[in-house]
Amino acid sequence: MDIERPSLPQLDKILGEEFPCLDHGFVRLIDYMGSDQAIVQAARVSYGKGTKQVQQDRGLIRYLMRHQHTSPFEMVEFKFHCKLPIFVARQWIRHRTASVNEYSLRYSEAVNQFYIPAPDTIRQQSKSNRQGRSTETVPKNLQQNVLNILKKHARQAWQDYKELEKVDLARELARIHLPVSLYTEWYWKINLHNLLRFLKLRLDPTAQHEIRVYAEQIAKLVQIAVPLTWEAFEDYVLHAESFSKIETEILKDLINNLSSEIDLQKIAEEKGLSKREIGEFKAKLYRSN
Ligand SMILES: Cc1cc2nc3c(=O)[nH]c(=O)nc-3n(C[C@H](O)[C@H](O)[C@H](O)COP(=O)(O)OP(=O)(O)OC[C@H]3O[C@@H](n4cnc5c(N)ncnc54)[C@H](O)[C@@H]3O)c2cc1C
Repeated sequence: MDIERPSLPQLDKILGEEFPCLDHGFVRLIDYMGSDQAIVQAARVSYGKGTKQVQQDRGLIRYLMRHQHTSPFEMVEFKFHCKLPIFVARQWIRHRTASVNEYSLRYSEAVNQFYIPAPDTIRQQSKSNRQGRSTETVPKNLQQNVLNILKKHARQAWQDYKELEKVDLARELARIHLPVSLYTEWYWKINLHNLLRFLKLRLDPTAQHEIRVYAEQIAKLVQIAVPLTWEAFEDYVLHAESFSKIETEILKDLINNLSSEIDLQKIAEEKGLSKREIGEFKAKLYRSN
């Protein structure tokens, strides 16, 4: 079997570049392994070259994504260097299927950088989403009050940290006084399958704005690295919905009632679905549970 090394000049060009996130943070792609080709190559080991229906790379990748045949996506890896506030890192670290190495405040001195939200992202508690912020902007004087409080606290925390340094307190103790708005840094290595799961959750509009900013930047890099996978991910995962049994029954009833008025085949073709995809779509709509 031929061994193909990925050649991704688009990605090589931006390797190591800092893409700014929030006020002091960034994401840099440090290294990567694999490409859409690596996914296809791995999948063909299991399907064989003779599988006619899925011979096209795009079709094969879409098939894998659609049927959650996930292991070929694990053949692609990314290593990022990220600088992020500690409260974002706490959410991020919950994604356990990555390898992480973080800047240590036991060994190294903290850096005087604290996250201060952009004024237009300052919101009140949402009335409908208990975990999130309102979509309404707040008056300028309230924005200013909030910013003053956050900045004052960051300044005081830093002064105290430096005071503790003067008495030669161990760094591992001096750090306990620092707020979660302090920036930290880490290397984060993850395979594409797990990265897509992270992106599905953290690109969602319900995810906290501050982590979504990082997810959006990483998504741009992934899109450059694996365009076919990204397209399939957007179609079958990111912008897809899943329905409960009852919801599905309601939808089937609706479609059956409309079946004389709509030409499903024509609509699906116009939307660019392949013959195989249309077949699978119809099977989902019309098969009885
Ligand atoms: C909008 C939002 C709100 C959230 N709110 C909260 C909150 O209020 N409180 C809170 O604590 N968390 C919260 N979380 C974190 C959330 O519960 C998950 O911990 C986080 O999203 C990581 O998801 P994961 O476990 O699927 O990811 P990963 O850790 O990357 O795991 C990926 C998959 O691997 C498998 N897996 C990994 N480890 C194990 C294991 N030990 N046992 C079994 N299967 C495993 C599971 O199938 C899992 O889905 C929130 C997340 C989001 C996106």
